[in-house]
Amino acid sequence: MSGSIKFSCFAEKALLSDGWARDVLIGIDDDGRIASLKRGAASGEAERLAGPVVPALADLHSHAFQRAMAGLTDVAAGGDDSFWTWREKMYDLVARLAPEDAEAIAAKLQVELMKGGFGRVVEFHYLHHGADGRPYDDTAEMSLRILSAATTSGIGLTLLPVFYAHSDFGGAAPTAGQRRFIHDVDGFLTLLHRLVQPCRTAGARLGLAIHSLRAATGDEIANILDAVPDHAPVHIHVAEQQREVEASLAHSGRRPVERLYDIADVDSRWCLVHATQTTTAEVRMIAASGAVVGLCPTTEADLGDGVFPAVDFLAAGGRFGIGTDSHVGTTVVDELRLLEYGQRLADRRRNRLASTAGASVARTLHDAALTGGAQAAGLPVAGIAVGASADLVVLDGASPYLSGETGDAILGRWLFGGIGQAVRDVMVGGRWTIREGRHARDGEIDAAFAAALTRLRA
Ligand SMILES: [Zn+2]
Repeated sequence: MSGSIKFSCFAEKALLSDGWARDVLIGIDDDGRIASLKRGAASGEAERLAGPVVPALADLHSHAFQRAMAGLTDVAAGGDDSFWTWREKMYDLVARLAPEDAEAIAAKLQVELMKGGFGRVVEFHYLHHGADGRPYDDTAEMSLRILSAATTSGIGLTLLPVFYAHSDFGGAAPTAGQRRFIHDVDGFLTLLHRLVQPCRTAGARLGLAIHSLRAATGDEIANILDAVPDHAPVHIHVAEQQREVEASLAHSGRRPVERLYDIADVDSRWCLVHATQTTTAEVRMIAASGAVVGLCPTTEADLGDGVFPAVDFLAAGGRFGIGTDSHVGTTVVDELRLLEYGQRLADRRRNRLASTAGASVARTLHDAALTGGAQAAGLPVAGIAVGASADLVVLDGASPYLSGETGDAILGRWLFGGIGQAVRDVMVGGRWTIREGRHARDGEIDAAFAAALTRLRA
């Protein structure tokens, strides 16, 4: 139920859940939800928004701490650089991160994501323990740092504590570089239970993740899923790298996506992150299951993962959302543009992800990422609709690229026009977090981030 209206905003142009509308009065209640929408309304006393309004998207895949190494790993090691050599550099960072570093980096990242057009982040959080692998006095110490960062930044948060127990298929022992990630099933369930109340207090949603089929056995996955509510989102990295496919085949005779569907009832609560290495049959199986595929185009390009067969997946009715993962990109533009461009480069054709004549690619991608992202984040209602969280992005109405445009051309200009910073204001849960491109706490958040980087360089 929506409560009484606390305040209203007026948008000349707004992308509602059923399409573009003019002169929209958006009523927002005490809980930060949209309580009413009136089209063709007068602005009256409402705050007049300074440009076209679109729904903020959920970033469905983040490892916040990796933002600290963005741009520092592009140094050749001698011709054989890969995901796996990148991972060693990431483990070097993991070994040195203190809780205060993780919090400072996450707060900075979350502000950047909002400036990039996201209103929520789904944090796939696997850095749990101290540098020596021993749990902190409070087993949830590192998770609470992510919650605290989200309170500082004001971003919407879906927290996914990650189960991680092994280094490879077949229950192989973890490596030294993985010791901060490791739980047994009971320890992981204790962590989940510990986080229920803090997430409730902070207004965050709580789901869970299985790191990958390398990191968990089929029995462990089954035991965890038996013990948690069946409505919570479940995410997993799957089929990102060809080496994972080979290891899966060697272990079980099944490819990773096949193996996952063998051992779990994969349905709409699931998000399959990457799923890059998939066959046509697997693409159809994922689409039919209702699971969301979590595509992270800038990271997948950065790591040389490959190109997800998105044209086939959409043709099969598949659902996807976008994530910024390692955060070499932090904007909706970066991810959606590269998603489409990757398909164009592979296929040597244009406009690959909108198949109907006259359909806007930008609109098609934005709509899909909105609904897929909301599903993966565990949100019951997506977009600018009555009952949804008031998560709004106001684009810069003063930009000459945007001021005269209407309808999907606005999204086209923003996502494919290369017009620079177009996100002006962002509202999350009925509260302004970004105003005129700035966060009220930019100064302190930047200072804490810089101090964390200084400590990590030492
Ligand atoms: Zn990831």
